[in-house]
This record gives sequence, structure tokens and C-alpha cells, in this order.
Amino acid sequence: MKLESEKKLEEFKEYMRKLEYLNSAIGVIYWDMRVGIPKKATAQRGEVIGYLSGEAYRLQTSDEMKEYIDYFSTIEGLDDVTKSMVLNAKKDYDQTKKIPEHRYKEYVILKSNSEVAWEEAKEKSDFNIFKPYLEKVVDFSREFIEYWGYENNKYDTLLDFYEPGITVEKLDVVFGELRDAIVELLGKIKESGVCIKDDFFKKDFSKESQEEFSLYVLNKMGYDFDAGRLDESVHPFTINFGNKDVRITTKYIPNEFRSALFSCIHEGGHALYEQDIPDELQGTGLAAGASMGIHESQSRFYENIIGRSKAFWTYFYPEAKNRFPQFKDVDFDEFYKGMNAVEPSLIRTEADELTYSLHVIIRYEIEKALINGEIEVKDLPQIWNKKYKEYLGVEPQNDAEGVLQDMHWSDGSFGYFPSYALGNLYGAQFLHKMEQDIPNMYDDIKQGNLDGVHQWLKDNIHKYGAVYKPAELLKMVTKEELSAKYFIDYLNKKYYEIYNLK
Ligand SMILES: [Zn+2]
Repeated sequence: MKLESEKKLEEFKEYMRKLEYLNSAIGVIYWDMRVGIPKKATAQRGEVIGYLSGEAYRLQTSDEMKEYIDYFSTIEGLDDVTKSMVLNAKKDYDQTKKIPEHRYKEYVILKSNSEVAWEEAKEKSDFNIFKPYLEKVVDFSREFIEYWGYENNKYDTLLDFYEPGITVEKLDVVFGELRDAIVELLGKIKESGVCIKDDFFKKDFSKESQEEFSLYVLNKMGYDFDAGRLDESVHPFTINFGNKDVRITTKYIPNEFRSALFSCIHEGGHALYEQDIPDELQGTGLAAGASMGIHESQSRFYENIIGRSKAFWTYFYPEAKNRFPQFKDVDFDEFYKGMNAVEPSLIRTEADELTYSLHVIIRYEIEKALINGEIEVKDLPQIWNKKYKEYLGVEPQNDAEGVLQDMHWSDGSFGYFPSYALGNLYGAQFLHKMEQDIPNMYDDIKQGNLDGVHQWLKDNIHKYGAVYKPAELLKMVTKEELSAKYFIDYLNKKYYEIYNLK
């Protein structure tokens, strides 16, 4: 006869699987709404999503769920997977259950109104349209933190939803070091007076030719088209329903060769992660990345560390030249440098590899102060512009290209932004270990063979899904704690060479 706990575990897994089925169904509808839905169908489909989300919410917060959580929380000697599964379910349960239901409902309504206001404000470039909504969203966030509880810093509670275990105390150190290092390097690049040409990427490239090349690169990366597909959408994204259906989207811009290609490589990096998560973890709630930051480390690893490297283009440049007559007179050096030109700019999503993290750190510093009540919503445009001037040397001329550019704050996603820069730090730490483990890594890449890189990521990161917290995973893989050192070294090495710095 089976032990009682084993039987109970099977029941719990069955219960969790129902939740995953619902989330899969919601996901497919979400994808459809962004990729191919007829215009008139949007409102009706929204109702379907609303209904299914309500059902998922019910399962996630039911008494039955609480029973499972309570039962397994008292059992000793659980394996890592079951332990994480219970902790995960408990975290989700607490996140909603600790908030009074009527406040939660008011918040959901506010969020959707706030998103609409943000869109209008951005279109008219007028922060005042968005301000009253954002003030309420911030008030809610501050109120919810009181329900959820916090130890040292209120913002830690929000960070923990996206990056379990990360704190302001840790981020202040690594982001502070990274910010200072990038500002210094940027200063040297400006002083050097070296100007890198990249106008050949801005010629006319047909959508078809861009798509073909993107598909070619994705195949080389090891993206499995039998378990995924590439489509077009306004904003590129990756979405998955289990590990057998991991879809990516991109957006083709006719006069910008790099945009669709690098967004495909980026989303491809996210997708490989999800495709590699083993079958055993499906339906446990752990068939996902370890955190937003670890996920972003995979996409940025492919996009920047691999995709903008000399080794990568040693193989792909001749192919690009074959396919695109626009590069007829562009030699390898120009091509590679053009790929990596540094240009401090106002818009985060258009930033180059070097300055990108500064955009994120600015948002981190603002969010941290805002959540802790050190600054108020009305001060945001001014603080935003001041930081851009100070770190990047550029100043927004209006709110649309400044404080209104991202939608994250409109739905209260405070604590999300740091994931992007953490992804850069994790990625460089993984690279350092990978270089030791695969001595001929760059030779392989030069031959167009990316399998070794993929296999390493699969064996060391992807196969664990969300079983381990980011800090545990990082320690397991690299034997080290989070550090800014490796990414700073990587940036210095790369840009000293590109800009002939001394
Ligand atoms: Zn991403």
C-alpha cells in the first residue's frame, strides 16, 4: 500500500495540472489576440479571458489549495521538486489571499483604467493625464506591501515577486558598481572621438529577406520549430504552453536590419530555455524559468554575448553578405563594429548593449525611492530627466520620450525592471564559467556550431526549471554570489577594443 503522503502528492499534482491547463488555454487566447485576431473579435475574446482567469484565480486561492499547502508544509524530507512546488504554490496563494478581496477587486479595475490613461498620456506626451492614476497605483502598492509584510526595505517585497531572494541591499551594491563603471567607460568612448558608422544597416531590407535570415539563425541556435513558431506582432514576445509549444514573435522594420534579427535572437534565447525544461516538471508549477532575471540572462546571452560577438559574425557575416547586396561594400570590421556602435539615447528598448543597463538602473533608483515614500509621483518627470542627463548625457524634450515611455508602471509592475540588468550580470557570470568548461567554445561558434553553448545552458540552467531560486542556481553553476565584476570586465574588454581605448 502506498504511503498516505504519496497518494496526497499525486492528488496535489493533479490539482496543479488543472491550473496549468487553464493557464495554457488563457495563454493561447492571449497569443491569438496579439498575433492574428480579427479586429471585431477583441472584446468578446476579452470576456473569455476574463472568465478563464477567474477560474484560475479560484483554483489558486481555494480552500483545497490551502489544505495541500498546509499538509505538505509539515512533511519533512521532501525532494527538491516537491519542496519548491509547495513553496511556489504558497507564495502565489499568499500574494492574493493576504489582500482584502474588495481592495484587490478595486485594484484590478484601477489597473485597466490606468493602462488606458497611460496610453493616452503617452500619445499626447502629457504626464498630467497619467499622474492621478499612477498616484493611486503607487498608493495601492504601498498599501499591499503592508499586508504582505517586509523586513528591511519595502521595495524588497516587490522585488521578490520577480527575483526571489534579491534585496535592495544587494542591488545597491551591484547596480552602483555597474552604473559607475558604465558611466566611466561611456566617458572614455566620448573622449576618444571615434565615430562608428552603421548607416548600411538602415538601407531597405524586405520583410521576406529579413524573415528568412531570422529563421536561418534561429535554426542554427537550436530553436525547435516542431515545438514552436515565429510570427509577427507589435511588440516582440515569447509565450509558451508547456515545453512542446514555445512561440516567439518579432516585428520587421524595413529600414533597420538589426531590429527584427536581434529581437528574434533575444526571444529565441527565452524560447530555448522553455523548450529545454524537462517533461517531469510539466504540471508542477515549476516548468518555468528560475526568475525573470535568469530568463533575461538567457535571452541577453544569445542576443548580445553571442549574437553581437566577433566569433558569431565570423560565420554569419559571409552568409549575410550573400543574401543582402546592401552589404556589398561593407567589410567585416565595419560590419562588426556597426553591430556594436554605442549611442546614448532616450529610449530603453532602442538602447545599445553598453548603455542599456543605465536605463534600467535609473528606473530602479526611482522605483525604490517612490515605493519608500522618499519621492512622490508629481516629481517623476523632473527626477527622470535629471538622471538621464547625469548618467547618459541626454535629456528628454517631452514626457513621451521620457518618463512615459514604458508601460510597466501603469499596471503596477514595480520591481520588474531590475530583472533586465540582472540578466546582464548573470549572463556574464555564466559566460565566465562556460569559457572554462568549453575551451574551444569560440572556435565552434566561428564554424557556426552553437550546439556546445546550447547544451551547456541546458545542462546547467534550463533543465532545472524553477526548482531553485536564482541565487541558489547561480551558486550551483558558478560557485559564486551575484557580482557585477564579470559583466564590467566583459564590457571593458569589448569596448576598449572596438573604440581603440587606452
Ligand atoms: Zn526578454
